Amino acid sequence: MTLTSPPLERLPKAGLLIGSDRVLSSSVGSIDHVYPGTGEVTGSVPLAGPAEIDQAVAAARSAFAEWRVVAPNVRRRAMLRLAALVREHAEELSELCIIENGTPRPFADSYPELVADLLEYNAGWTDKIGGEVVPTWPLRALDYTVEEPYGVVGILIPWNGPFGSAGMTMAPALAAGNCVVVKPPELAPWSVLRLGELALEAGFPPGVINVVPAGPVGGEALVRHRGVDYVHFTGSGVTARHILTAAAETLKPVGLELGGKSPRIIFPDADLQGAVVESIGNLAVLSGQGCIYGMRVLAHVDVYDQVVGMVQAFSGHIALGDPFAPTTQMGPVINTAARDRILGMVERAQAEGARLVAGGTPGEGDLARGSFVAPTVFADVAPGSELAREEVFGPVIAITPFSDEEEAVRLANDTDFGLAAYIWTNDLRRAHVVADRLEAGNVWINGFLGIPAGAPFGGHKQSGYGRLGGREGVREFTRTKNVYTPFDPLPSL
Ligand code: NAD
Repeated sequence: MTLTSPPLERLPKAGLLIGSDRVLSSSVGSIDHVYPGTGEVTGSVPLAGPAEIDQAVAAARSAFAEWRVVAPNVRRRAMLRLAALVREHAEELSELCIIENGTPRPFADSYPELVADLLEYNAGWTDKIGGEVVPTWPLRALDYTVEEPYGVVGILIPWNGPFGSAGMTMAPALAAGNCVVVKPPELAPWSVLRLGELALEAGFPPGVINVVPAGPVGGEALVRHRGVDYVHFTGSGVTARHILTAAAETLKPVGLELGGKSPRIIFPDADLQGAVVESIGNLAVLSGQGCIYGMRVLAHVDVYDQVVGMVQAFSGHIALGDPFAPTTQMGPVINTAARDRILGMVERAQAEGARLVAGGTPGEGDLARGSFVAPTVFADVAPGSELAREEVFGPVIAITPFSDEEEAVRLANDTDFGLAAYIWTNDLRRAHVVADRLEAGNVWINGFLGIPAGAPFGGHKQSGYGRLGGREGVREFTRTKNVYTPFDPLPSL
């Protein structure tokens, strides 16, 4: 198989974007970005350290002084112009998504439209964020609330879909009137750096959007910074614990979008083909490296063997390979460390008695140049085992049988996570009763067609708190002020 080398002429400047300046060297040095499709280095990326975070926060604070009084329709227009530029540069942005983490082209091609749509949807909120008049007693007064932006928002995003993640967080934060310091991950910095450049072109004043790729050192400096009023973090629970500890120093509010171990419950009356095709899609798209993917399949005993057989057969037809090829359905995982971690989980799952029915191997031949893992399927996964409870973040489906509704709900809820859940049945009552009992922030019944921009998205339990999307997503980035003035003269002495 031929693997395409990443077109390096596509890359934006690697430097940090602070205000309208590009900072090309940093106090903590640089990291070589590696394209996971072939293992080739694409460029050297300066990482923000505490000094650069200081500069970026100062730029955002200074911009906020003016940005906070800019009329909502002006903010709206800037967001709409950025959406238009994202569409205009769709092909280039899509290629950056491929280069930075090996997203297969068909899926990478969907990101610019997704982000443009998020910008447009949230632009619509800029002029609709109001407050309310509060009744008072026993004395009459005017009491009203105002939804204000926090000021400077620090945004930390993960490498699995940084462009989409930036759209989901930056769009509502900007709509609410904040300035942002966005930290793309060191492993996948390119698309968000380009988005920052396009934002300047769209007319956002310098400092409203700052983009500072960084690792844990810069990330922690951003969270600790006294000039940052609110932090939004998307990533793993392990890092979230560090974030909360760092934020505690200034008692800073934090929004968390974390991992998942999402169940896909298949009842015997379900559209089995639909349920299985969707599981396979989750396995292939981003190589299973998605927070909401329903790759813990719970299949009713009456259809269990059939489901296992279909998942096994379909997994063998996934087009695994060159992320730049338009027919590729599945690319590499993010790096060789992730590949080895996933293969370690495969080994432990076998030791715990799960039955390997497909994959479980690294990419062979040409694919060995990149960090590929074959589509992997386990049946007879024991409830309570590592594979049943822990996030793999790789292309591994785990199938477990259940015998009735009660058991399906118990197994589905038997993890510390609660991000998403998928129900497949044609029984309307059962679908909604089970949805009611599932511990998950988002439930899909009989099919997932993406996360609607207007829907609140987020987790229960250890999958995080706070919501992105819809009205709730914008509220996430505002705080309420109450203003009171009595109608009657104050009593005199
Ligand atoms: P991660 O937690 O390892 O890293 C996330 C970001 O935090 C990175 O940019 C990293 O540089 C930074 N970071 C690491 N240590 C830090 C520290 N001590 N202080 C501040 N910042 C620090 O997560 P990841 O590996 O990039 O992403 C995978 C995880 O993200 C998975 O658990 C996945 O489920 C989750 N995720 C959740 C969602 C969601 O919307 N719920 C979306 C995508 C990914």
